[in-house]
Amino acid sequence: MIDNLVSEQENGWLRVQVPLPYSLKWVNAYLLPGEGEDDWSLIDPGLHTEEATDVWQAVMRDRGIEWGQIARIVLTHHHPDHYGLAGWFQERSGAPVWMSRKAHETAHWMWGRDGEGSEGIEGSEGNGRSVTEALLASFLAHGLPASLADGMKAHLLGFVARVSPQPAAVSYLHPNAEFRMAGVRWELIGGEGHAPGHVSFYDPNSGRLLCGDQVLPDISPNIGWLPGGDPDPLGSFLDSLRAMRSLEVTCAYPGHRQPFGRFRERVDELADHHERRLERIAELIRERPSASFDVCERLFGERLRGNIHNLRFALSETIAHLVLLERRGVLRLADNMTWVSRLP
Ligand SMILES: [Zn+2]
Repeated sequence: MIDNLVSEQENGWLRVQVPLPYSLKWVNAYLLPGEGEDDWSLIDPGLHTEEATDVWQAVMRDRGIEWGQIARIVLTHHHPDHYGLAGWFQERSGAPVWMSRKAHETAHWMWGRDGEGSEGIEGSEGNGRSVTEALLASFLAHGLPASLADGMKAHLLGFVARVSPQPAAVSYLHPNAEFRMAGVRWELIGGEGHAPGHVSFYDPNSGRLLCGDQVLPDISPNIGWLPGGDPDPLGSFLDSLRAMRSLEVTCAYPGHRQPFGRFRERVDELADHHERRLERIAELIRERPSASFDVCERLFGERLRGNIHNLRFALSETIAHLVLLERRGVLRLADNMTWVSRLP
């Protein structure tokens, strides 16, 4: 069952493809052997589903690793497909969970604290509304048809179970500091735009980079606009790419798809992709002023309505592009929430 899901890297690391019930299909978790038998590091354990915990039990058994031999659980970011099993692993191993303070705060903001998950989400938050309510209200204002709102709400609330139990205790990684695991002193590289407080782990000696979802091969990391979050996530993402471009990377170990070698080329491709997408959106608005949801459908097609998960990502990402175009002075948002070109 797990033979195809575990691959040993040339340096002895194990990559585990933890199944996901989404189009992404799996998230890459990495198990790094350390300086002794009881010094395994686990990076991004995955989303809490029965299928995923079955896989992990089989992997641990198959590789002869005891829960107590995991010395640390390390998270690149708070997204459910990375963070979701951190608490489950902590319960079994007693290991500390490491993530950035910002990522941890965002997890609490999204799903509440353990045992009060629904309260954290439904209760008062920010302007007296929960994140879910605030996101839905924003999406509706940006043109999401009311007929899709209920499905979107159920989809958002469904994540609480997928990240529970949340870790009981979290230790904070400090971007721009150093962190020791697997016998290596890692440089922690902060990155924004995909997820607040995202951290990548860079070993300048070997050129290895554990990059989470900050840079992915084949697919473009989702740029997540959220009400009350980063007001310009795409601008932040492009800034982070520019900063990461200077790293001398021999192999990047991403959160999805396969490890890859052409890191700087991939960084440039992602930046180019977004610039082209920005031009395309500016063109669409010049043709016809539109609400964000209409721009999203004009870009991605109506088929997205059949997949709430993908629709949410597409709409978040479309808004992120529109907001950056507004900041660049190309568009403005009219009172009726349609985007209007400021260029002739
Ligand atoms: Zn992510």
